[in-house]
Amino acid sequence: MLSSEEQARLRLEIFAELELFIDARGGFASRDELTAFTLRGGLRIPLIDRNKGIRNPAEFDATLAIVSAGDKGRYNVYDDAIDRSSGLLYYSWAQGPLNAGDNRKLHVAFEQQVPIILFEKPLPNLYVPVFPVRVIDVLPERRQFVIDIDESGVRATTATTLDKRYVERLVKQRVHQPVFRARVLSAYNKRCAVCTLKYAELLDAAHIIADTDERGLPVVTNGMAMCKIHHAAYDQNFLGVSPDYVVHINERLLADRDGPMLQYGLQAMNGKPLELPARRDDRPDRDFLAERFATFTS
Ligand SMILES: [Zn+2]
Repeated sequence: MLSSEEQARLRLEIFAELELFIDARGGFASRDELTAFTLRGGLRIPLIDRNKGIRNPAEFDATLAIVSAGDKGRYNVYDDAIDRSSGLLYYSWAQGPLNAGDNRKLHVAFEQQVPIILFEKPLPNLYVPVFPVRVIDVLPERRQFVIDIDESGVRATTATTLDKRYVERLVKQRVHQPVFRARVLSAYNKRCAVCTLKYAELLDAAHIIADTDERGLPVVTNGMAMCKIHHAAYDQNFLGVSPDYVVHINERLLADRDGPMLQYGLQAMNGKPLELPARRDDRPDRDFLAERFATFTS
């Protein structure tokens, strides 16, 4: 058995390597990738359990990761179970008593305030990690653990109320944006919809209707996977996408002369059909595109 210092060190090592591991994959991973997770030193630590929501590796006294029960269907707007007014996740116990089986190590994570990983699972076989998070309460009468997605540690118990705007921003940044990105990049098979660049680290999920607009929901049909340059060009209206899924380049840019980025990266994209997701239902909403395209042509 590892000492508590060794366990803490190993946990931090896992967190640090998970960050790189996830970034390299565009912000999400599959079940097989997570069960094969191996530290650079060679130690294999599966991050999820194939059959259970709670991952309790033998190396640790406390739970390492949990999977949120989400997965409520492909087109549900918010398929996480996080309470948006508080930023808390009410996580149901596994079967059996609190101090036995899989529940026991999650209870230890609460008692010792050990940071854990929360995996959001917006689609089958698509896992988006949110970490570190903490178990801040146990509700025996509801048979639930309370998970706080705020890593600042300012909330000591469930009774602590945080500023409403702070919580909104927190849930958006730590959960909704990463989940949106994962869903969009997954729908586009991790390729830019304009130029087909396939490096996940260089891809974004671009909103068609901005997320500052109340209709700019984080759904796949309001997004397109784009590389950094095409995303920025789209946001600046140097690049437009018409409702018939064709890429357009701003006339001033077309008339200009500059280096290869302008010529091959932008001008050559003019008139190119958009690379669409394989699933018809994942394709961009034509009404959203039309509304947005009007700002490009105006
Ligand atoms: Zn691109």
